[in-house]
Amino acid sequence: MIHFHREIKGIEMIDISKEKVSISCPDCKRVIKVTIAQISKQEAVGCTCGQSIQLVDDKGSNKKAIKDINKSFKDLEKTIKKFGK
Ligand SMILES: [Zn+2]
Repeated sequence: MIHFHREIKGIEMIDISKEKVSISCPDCKRVIKVTIAQISKQEAVGCTCGQSIQLVDDKGSNKKAIKDINKSFKDLEKTIKKFGK
């Protein structure tokens, strides 16, 4: 089960790849926080129990999501800038 923890502190700081995702260790069930960037790179993360977890980006869906979402934020940013004039 993946939960998104979103903290938006300002439009210019948004980078979806830095969003944190909680995963649970298959061994000790401890919650480990990883970034979407780590998932898209399919990095291996270590749990404090010694278990190594290989992150898998199913069919590159996270990489695509990062691209899509970052694009929407950029478009939104442009719109906001336009309104700000
Ligand atoms: Zn563990």
